[in-house]
Amino acid sequence: MKKVAIIGAGISGLFIANLFKKNSNYQVTVYEKNNSLDLDEGYGIQLSVNSVKLLNQIGFDKFKDHKKFNPTKINFYSIKSLEKICDLDISDFNSDDIKYTTLKRSDLINFLKSDIEDLIKTSHSISKIDQENRIIKISFENDETFECDHLIISDGVFSKSKSLVSKNKTQPKYNNTLAIRGTIPYFLDFVDKKNISLHLGSNFHHVIYPVTQKGNLNFIAIMKYNLTENEQKNYSLFTDPDFIKKILRNVPQESNKFLNEIKELKIFPVFVSDDFFKIDNNKIHLIGDAFFAFPPSFAQGASQSIEGAFELFKSIENNTEIDFFKSRVYKTKMVNNRSKFNEFVFHLSNPLTKLFRNIFLKKLVKNKKFLESYLGKIYR
Ligand SMILES: Cc1cc2nc3c(=O)[nH]c(=O)nc-3n(C[C@H](O)[C@H](O)[C@H](O)COP(=O)(O)OP(=O)(O)OC[C@H]3O[C@@H](n4cnc5c(N)ncnc54)[C@H](O)[C@@H]3O)c2cc1C
Repeated sequence: MKKVAIIGAGISGLFIANLFKKNSNYQVTVYEKNNSLDLDEGYGIQLSVNSVKLLNQIGFDKFKDHKKFNPTKINFYSIKSLEKICDLDISDFNSDDIKYTTLKRSDLINFLKSDIEDLIKTSHSISKIDQENRIIKISFENDETFECDHLIISDGVFSKSKSLVSKNKTQPKYNNTLAIRGTIPYFLDFVDKKNISLHLGSNFHHVIYPVTQKGNLNFIAIMKYNLTENEQKNYSLFTDPDFIKKILRNVPQESNKFLNEIKELKIFPVFVSDDFFKIDNNKIHLIGDAFFAFPPSFAQGASQSIEGAFELFKSIENNTEIDFFKSRVYKTKMVNNRSKFNEFVFHLSNPLTKLFRNIFLKKLVKNKKFLESYLGKIYR
């Protein structure tokens, strides 16, 4: 029986652990640095059909219906004029049992851990990775050690494991944007109750969508904002009431009616990957944000984490691990280009370019050929 160690119990680590659990040739353990899994309520996730299809293989289709929502459209609005620009039918990519889904991140994590709780070791923060011959030895800050045949690194965008294997060669970079997020625990009469609403402003956009059948809404705004190197490293800044007030003063006035309803408002800097890192050992792999973290403007982080985890599991099961990196890089580049392009287009500030953007947007959201290429290549 092959031993598999997974570092990090986030979306990608938990999903791949579920896949390994179904194959009796593997003994899998998930190591998580925190003393419990992160079940932060104030955070919604959008899952496109590419990941829902894979999640269904471990029973997501049977997961409580009242904790999931299936929006059918993305509505585009202009923040300044408060007018609707157009809408995009995302249900075109759905099938009977595979639908674009929104839910609370905490509900997704609860679903992913439900069958594998016995495999998760909390309070295990990685400190050392030794690669000798075919055996990989990992050490933790609590002085425990473990030997494994496959090591899967899924400890997120600030991956310590990646720093250890790359000898600090790769670091995420600040995306020059802040994320403002929170929940609204009831429906608002000025919000579309059934769909995703995307509001476009200058150097700013915000997205609001239902995450349950009962009426909880998720709010997420992305604001262009320069931070000095010191500010980027200073995490206490993001809990400082004066700094939060200063940031919120930059929110367009028209968006305040949403902001005023938000509970558990949090602000954090968005970090993204700059490049790929290929590990010189085909028994050690990166997945999820540790593999590559995208700007959030295409809402593909979680979906790609799930897709990458599935591809890695299949390549280990079929002994084709060498191909995994190449095929993941190809798809990741496509998603990253679209994420960066979306952010650029969503944040346009010149009135004339905004006017042209809106004209093009109205045409493109109804152009099947364009949608098949821009979204279909990622979603299918
Ligand atoms: C503002 C914002 C909005 C987003 N919205 C969406 C969205 O709508 N849809 C979408 O698909 N994606 C979205 N994403 C992206 C998505 O959240 C991430 O891509 C996804 O959570 C990555 O999963 P992961 O498993 O790689 O990492 P994570 O979920 O970050 O999990 C990493 C785990 O590793 C653990 N860990 C860290 N260090 C160590 C260590 N040293 N030892 C052991 N364990 C460790 C952590 O505690 C954590 O549990 C968004 C991201 C941002 C920033």
